[in-house]
Amino acid sequence: MTMEILLALGSNLGNRRVILESAWQEIGNLPEIKTLRISRFYETQPVGGPINQPEFLNAVGIIITTLPPRRLLEKLQEIENRFGRVRTEHWGPRTLDIDILLYGNEVILTPTLTIPHPEMLHRRFVLEPAAEIAADTVHPITGQTIREHLHRIK
Ligand code: ADP
Ligand code: MG
Repeated sequence: MTMEILLALGSNLGNRRVILESAWQEIGNLPEIKTLRISRFYETQPVGGPINQPEFLNAVGIIITTLPPRRLLEKLQEIENRFGRVRTEHWGPRTLDIDILLYGNEVILTPTLTIPHPEMLHRRFVLEPAAEIAADTVHPITGQTIREHLHRIK
């Protein structure tokens, strides 16, 4: 069975637009993944992390895949690494960050993989693009839609 999966993409170093577009293309080039739709790109002030870092460009995309969650995470991390992301400071500038927001209705709570993504319901820069493409998708823990969660934080 193929589940609908929501991914968050972000970049705040380099040519952010080109990085997000190419990353989305690379995700779709993987044989196990089909990209369905991506939101517009949203300019976001960085939250947390060091001060004075550049603004983020954020987007949310929908994919379907035959990869189980952990294999998917590995594939996405390979793409992050290919874009030269250097993991130095936590929440510091990065050329590319790809997070798994939702994996169908699955709930996974492990130290290295948490799905649904624990921060997604508090972050406008995730909920806004997510609502653009998946407003009626239901969060498997809260039972509420992305639209409802977006209105809640407004
Ligand atoms: P962040 O995205 O929080 O800024 P990183 O991208 O550096 O930080 O991610 C750190 C770790 O978060 C990853 O190595 C991964 O194991 C873990 N992680 C846990 N849940 C998820 C998820 N849903 N999507 C992506 N990474 C996750
Ligand atoms: Mg990440």
